[in-house]
Amino acid sequence: MNKTFSLYRLQLLDTQRIQRLKRIRFIDQTIASDKALMKARRIVEKAAREHAQSESAVNEIQRKVEEKTLKLKLTQSKLFGGKISNTKELQDLQAESEALTRNIKKLEEEHFQALEIAEKTQAILKRAESNLQSIIDEKATENSLLLGEREKLLGQLPKINSQREALRAQLDPSTLEEYSKLFKNKAGLAVVEIVDDACKACGVELSPSEIQQAARPEVLLKCKSCGRILYKPDISSKKTDNQS
Ligand SMILES: [Zn+2]
Repeated sequence: MNKTFSLYRLQLLDTQRIQRLKRIRFIDQTIASDKALMKARRIVEKAAREHAQSESAVNEIQRKVEEKTLKLKLTQSKLFGGKISNTKELQDLQAESEALTRNIKKLEEEHFQALEIAEKTQAILKRAESNLQSIIDEKATENSLLLGEREKLLGQLPKINSQREALRAQLDPSTLEEYSKLFKNKAGLAVVEIVDDACKACGVELSPSEIQQAARPEVLLKCKSCGRILYKPDISSKKTDNQS
C-alpha cells in the first residue's frame, strides 16, 4: 500500500465531505432567512397602513359634507318655509346658509384631493402586493431547487463516509494525526502532488533524491518549504491528473 496515495485519496474525500456539509448549511440558512421576502412583506404592510389612513380621511370628509348638507337643508327650509317673519332671524338664517354653502364647497374640494391621494396609495399597495406575490412564487421554485440539491448532497455523504472510514482504517494513527494537523493548518491542503519536479502548492523545486524518496510507498516526505506531504502520482494514474 502506498501511504501517500492513501492520504491523497483521503484528502479528496475529506474535501468532498466538507464541501457538501458547507453547501447543506448554506441551503438551510438561505431557506430560513429569506430576507427579500421579509422586506417585501414589510413594504406591503406599510403600504396597507398608508392606504387605510388615506381612505379613512376620505370617509371623514364625506361624513362632514353629509352633515353640513343636512344642516343646510334645514336652514333653507326654515328660511323659505314662510313661518319666520322676523327680519333679524331671517338675516341670520341667510348668513348661516351662505356660510354652510361655502363650507360645503371647501369640503368638496378637500374630498376631491383626498380621493386623489387614496387612489395613489391604492396603486402603491397593489404594486407592493404583486411584488410580494412574485417573490413568493420565485422563492417556491428556488426553495424546491435548493431542497432537491440538499437531498442529493445528503445522499452522497454515506458513500463518502464509508470510503473515508475504509481508508482511515488502513493508515496508522500517527500518520493520520499528522495528516489531520496539516489538513487543518494548511487550509485543507495537507497532501500535494509533485508536478514538474516541484511542490504543486508552493512551487519549490525538488532534488532527484527527494523525488525518489517520495515515490517510495512507505515514506512520508514533506516539502522543505511549505511542510506539506509530497505525493508522487503514479504513471498509471497520471491520466486523471491536472485535467479539471
Ligand atoms: Zn511546498
